[in-house]
Amino acid sequence: YISTAHPIFNEREDFNGAVILFHDITDIKKYESLQKEFFGNVSHELKTPISAIKGCTEILLNGAKNDPQTCDEFLTIIQDENNRMEQLVKDLLLINRYEHDQIKHNTDRVCLNELLTDCIVQTLNIANLKNQKIMLEATEDYSLDGDYIKLQHCFLNLLTNAIHYSGEDTTITIRIRQRGSNIETQVIDQGIGIPAADIPHIFERFYRVDRARSRHTGGTGLGLSIVASIIEAHGGNIKVKSELNKGSKFIVTLPQKMKK
Ligand code: ADP
Repeated sequence: YISTAHPIFNEREDFNGAVILFHDITDIKKYESLQKEFFGNVSHELKTPISAIKGCTEILLNGAKNDPQTCDEFLTIIQDENNRMEQLVKDLLLINRYEHDQIKHNTDRVCLNELLTDCIVQTLNIANLKNQKIMLEATEDYSLDGDYIKLQHCFLNLLTNAIHYSGEDTTITIRIRQRGSNIETQVIDQGIGIPAADIPHIFERFYRVDRARSRHTGGTGLGLSIVASIIEAHGGNIKVKSELNKGSKFIVTLPQKMKK
């Protein structure tokens, strides 16, 4: 893309050349297309629950409200779709906040054992509904530099996914261990697993392996992308190993000391 071009003349006013300024706008174009895709996805994700709520309300107003069973059914759909929209808006706000926030400014010494115990306590109720066991395996206390709230958000997300995507009477294991100057945390489930072809994409925004199974659990497909950006902002990384119908293992590696 040429931003400016200036002709150069000599004393006799003969054309002698030109100064042409080029701007490489590949990155800007890439950003614009990502932004377009993002808004396209958001609109699409909002359109589906809005149409469902609109459809159900119309049917109810056209007489279905007089039948208690149908009324219950449609009201439940309206409630579910409303919850999905609420979760989507919450996730979008988080993306917006994390992208404009400097995690390094909020670092503290975080005890990972304490943080993970907190996450387990918060998810026990939903795990109990499926008679699932959650185990924490750690031979000592592990501490690292990090933002407690954001790291808690990450591990809560991984733990809730493990619960959602696993069946009844299964066990979820959280294992912490030292890896050189890093701390590795594994969240291991015995759930439905992730097909090999989908694994490279699950950290992308709005990516869901199977809409039907995700919809059932009320997912937005944004959870893991938020997790990945928080872990990266801490100088760490996240990997996944999974086998269909056997289970998944999410491996989070975080440095003990964050680079200033
Ligand atoms: P969602 O909100 O749909 O759960 P996520 O970003 O958290 O979105 O996850 C993306 C997709 O990865 C999910 O739709 C789900 O299919 C798959 N997934 C995530 N965690 C697990 C897990 N522990 N077991 C099986 N599949 C999982």
